[in-house]
Amino acid sequence: MQKVWEHQKYEEKIYKFWEKSGYFTPKPKKGRKKFCIIMPPPNANADLHIGHARFITIQDILIRYHRMKGEDVLWLPGADHAGIETQFVFEKKLKEQGKSRFDFSREELYQLIWNYVQENKINMEKQIKSLGASCDWTREKFTLDTEIVKIVYKTFKRLYEDGLVYRGKRIVNYCPRCGTAYSQLETEPQERESTLFYLDYKTITIATTRPETIFADTAIAVNPKDKRYKKLIGKTATIPIIKRKIPIIADNLVDINFGTGALKITPGHDATDFEIGKKHNLPTILVIDKQGRMVNTPKQYLGLKAEEARIKVVLDLEKEGVVIKKEKIKHLVSICYKDKGLIEPLPEEQWFIKVEKLAKNALSAIKGKKVRFVSRKYEKMAMHWLSNLKDWNISRQIVWGIRIPAWFCKDCQKWTITEGETPVSCQFCYSKNIEQDKDTFDTWFSSGQWPYATLLARSGSKIKIPLSLKDKKRLIDFANFYPTSVMETGFDIIPFWVIRMIMLGLYATNNVPFREVLIHGLVRDKEGQKISKSKGNVINPLEMSYKYGTDALRTALIWGSKIENDISVSEENIKGQRNFANKLWNIARFIKITKANLNWGKEKPNPQTKEDSLIIKDLQKTIQKTTKQIEEYRLNEAINELYKFVWHKLADKYLESTKIKTEKGTKIRKPSISVLQEVFKNCLILLHPFMPFITEAVWRELNISKKPLIIERWPIIKEK
Ligand SMILES: [Zn+2]
Ligand SMILES: [Zn+2]
Repeated sequence: MQKVWEHQKYEEKIYKFWEKSGYFTPKPKKGRKKFCIIMPPPNANADLHIGHARFITIQDILIRYHRMKGEDVLWLPGADHAGIETQFVFEKKLKEQGKSRFDFSREELYQLIWNYVQENKINMEKQIKSLGASCDWTREKFTLDTEIVKIVYKTFKRLYEDGLVYRGKRIVNYCPRCGTAYSQLETEPQERESTLFYLDYKTITIATTRPETIFADTAIAVNPKDKRYKKLIGKTATIPIIKRKIPIIADNLVDINFGTGALKITPGHDATDFEIGKKHNLPTILVIDKQGRMVNTPKQYLGLKAEEARIKVVLDLEKEGVVIKKEKIKHLVSICYKDKGLIEPLPEEQWFIKVEKLAKNALSAIKGKKVRFVSRKYEKMAMHWLSNLKDWNISRQIVWGIRIPAWFCKDCQKWTITEGETPVSCQFCYSKNIEQDKDTFDTWFSSGQWPYATLLARSGSKIKIPLSLKDKKRLIDFANFYPTSVMETGFDIIPFWVIRMIMLGLYATNNVPFREVLIHGLVRDKEGQKISKSKGNVINPLEMSYKYGTDALRTALIWGSKIENDISVSEENIKGQRNFANKLWNIARFIKITKANLNWGKEKPNPQTKEDSLIIKDLQKTIQKTTKQIEEYRLNEAINELYKFVWHKLADKYLESTKIKTEKGTKIRKPSISVLQEVFKNCLILLHPFMPFITEAVWRELNISKKPLIIERWPIIKEK
């Protein structure tokens, strides 16, 4: 054995050995307990960051623990094409080369992004492996795998047939720069200072921050409770400049205290106004197009950008003498979460999922504890989102993703939905004059199906959605591992992902996708600051694992903080954990040098001294405690317990008590060797899920067993 633990010499070799020997691939047996985690697929568009390293560590600890308990364990890895995110990253790269997406055809662009993602994916797999992840690579899935896409299509078609998918005009959050509509979640509220203009509409004065949209007004609304305007309801008002008359209506959505209490209704450019417009059958007029430029206005504004038009319109309104007052106000606007520019609310034909019934079922699954959130606070968060969910817009105007399998017939104006195949003709009038929807699915629509899609993918083409009882039993991976055991992921994607997996999982399989939800907090720097490139406090997990060893990195990532809480990590922390690895190595080396490593397990531990009995008792306590801690996801407490036991009880006290100084050097009391072997062997087993590499290396160096440590049995707790 070398003097110090040289992780670089061991890690890759050990990983390859595990993988090649097939230990990551379950060989399920009837009647044996099953444990399954579907890995949240990292985006295949960048390197892994420290947050990924934390979740991989947490999941690998659970997986290794359950594997050692003799269960059939599946950890299924994957990669996410990450629709808009990836296209955004890729377009930035194009920009650096002086190009844009508009320089390529749809097919060319798709192929370019595909190649880029494949390269990243290979890189990412290497990185996951270097972190010691014992996942089953033979079952790895990518969100754009043919078999996965097939299942996604089947779910969509079935939702459509069940009347849960509809095509509707909705005000969408349109970003004129990205050229796509975003979901409510992909926009951010931002407080901005604006001018509130009080404008004279002859019979009534209104207040607006967007005078350039007056040409799209189709009514003025007041609150029915507002005494000031009671008499005006049913009369008309006149839009300045164009002098068009519009009705004054009553609606209780109007805020009496904002501006004058009279609201101009512009259904084409505001989500609330759109709702009010629908209720009162008002027409929708558009004066801003998708490029953010003026249309359908008097000549002088045509083609101007909305902000430019505002200035000009205000000048003209002032000339006309209808600007009664100007007021600076702070108000919330929606900005694009990608480029931080203003979102333009626009009505668009999109595909929507009716969420009411799906969300209700998901809620009752949580209430009925069919899905258990380990932390109450995150359960509340999920229930809050489910109770307030609006219909889900699943159309995205981007190339990178799963194209929606819907064909529009130009003759009868109807849609033909398929399971992905191109229809010969329109299913209603048999016209061949059909065209596929250009949009792709929201990336969360496909990843929302991830748990069942990954487990069904091997037989994907033959199944029906919802899954029949027969298929549930027939399809082996599904029968064995669904519902999966734990969904371990970040709190920020509870609304995007976790609740949608529950909704779609219940819909497609009539069962929840996972039994427990374990949410992890963020990794922060040592000052507790969020880690980001702009702050310059990035910790590269691969660099750290190369420098200090993967085991040191892994323990630093769970040390001192509950999984659900944020954790502060610095290079010093990781370096500190390295000392623990060295300590373990030194004990092993001492055992080897003193020849206390012969005849492992041949002899039952036979305590002779007070110290012998005490350490055996302490070991039992440690086994009991750490087992319970891992079962309850208190990984930080478990590693702390093991650290204290190994360092203080075993190394500092017990080992010292067994040493006998002779002329030739230090020896171990012979009668204590069986005890030492029992204790150290169990330390390696208990530490293995946390520090897989050094424990496996020591296990081998000391020749403890022919069987590798990864499949050694977890010690059984001895009841008193
Ligand atoms: Zn944008
Ligand atoms: Zn037709």
